[in-house]
Amino acid sequence: QAPAYIRAISPYQPGKPISELARDMGLVEASIVKLASNENPLGISPKAKEAIARAVQDLARYPDGNGFELKAALSERTGVPMSGIVLGNGSNDVLELVARTFLTPGAEAVLSQHAFAVYPLATMAVGAKPVVVPAKDFGHDLDAMAAAVTDKTGVVFIANPNNPTGSFLPGDRLQAFLEKMPERVLVVLDEAYTEYLPDADRYDAIGWLTRFPNLLVTRTFSKAYGLAGLRVGYGLGDAGVVDLLNRVRQPFNVNSLALAAATAALGDEEFLAKSAALNQRGMNQLTRAFEAMSLSWLPSWGNFVTVKVGDGDTVYRALLAEGVIVRPIASYGMPEWLRVSIGLPEENARFIDALKRVLVG
Ligand code: PMP
Repeated sequence: QAPAYIRAISPYQPGKPISELARDMGLVEASIVKLASNENPLGISPKAKEAIARAVQDLARYPDGNGFELKAALSERTGVPMSGIVLGNGSNDVLELVARTFLTPGAEAVLSQHAFAVYPLATMAVGAKPVVVPAKDFGHDLDAMAAAVTDKTGVVFIANPNNPTGSFLPGDRLQAFLEKMPERVLVVLDEAYTEYLPDADRYDAIGWLTRFPNLLVTRTFSKAYGLAGLRVGYGLGDAGVVDLLNRVRQPFNVNSLALAAATAALGDEEFLAKSAALNQRGMNQLTRAFEAMSLSWLPSWGNFVTVKVGDGDTVYRALLAEGVIVRPIASYGMPEWLRVSIGLPEENARFIDALKRVLVG
């Protein structure tokens, strides 16, 4: 029998796939709008598409287990030496590697209430204990998180911006937190949505790595780079930390198509800028509509926004019947809220119209 700590895990609930809703409701797939998984509504970058077409020719070979090309490109872009870069099958893989490498049964991982669901999952999967610190204004309360660190703490997880609340911590607050952390505690700064930050809010966590060898910055190609289906993410940190993660990592954890696409996507500045601009416009479109409907929403720095609708599950189901998939977040302790990813303008409009019909009845 599996240990009790495994049986205590509640599985991750992904966004409902379009094909499943089409089948359940007898809807045409093309008529369904999915705003449930913080994906890029523009699809993938044209450069990544070309790279995939080339890489398809070589699928009989194993991928480059060290991801040389992608690491070299990331190193050039970030200034972090290749020895300080670990690649993952999505950044989820990196988060899981962290848990497997730095936590033991009985150890503790400090994380925030309403923070990304994979932190407690990865923690519990290795028999460690998630220490959930109450959120402040739906964001991370860094003072309370620092106070929650004990001799048993192996890892602190911080999502910035956070999913599903969209909250954001300015760089100076993060730095002050790092100053307080004992060096034996690994601080994971999860920057899955960092590419969407406006220039005014940008901070240079990579520049802090030399000062804080216990910092690991994680990022992903799933969001602004539009490669969610290929699964590729990475961690940037001290070479010693990365070496340990690489010992635990599966030898070929990132596949050939993902490596090729991510390397190409990294060089497609135009696509990235287009994605961020579209996101900003869509965010305005949605929040203006929420305002007009007198709905509360949480200011978001990501590619999604969380809105208070009453009974989240009922509204979620009613939206499904309208062919619109969003994300209920009762499992994040927010049963009155729904998380909506920013889509194309017409997708956002479909959601708003459906929401109006559902809420007005
Ligand atoms: N961190 C955060 C905060 C996220 O929201 C997500 C995606 N839902 C991830 C990490 C993981 O993304 P991926 O595994 O696709 O890189």
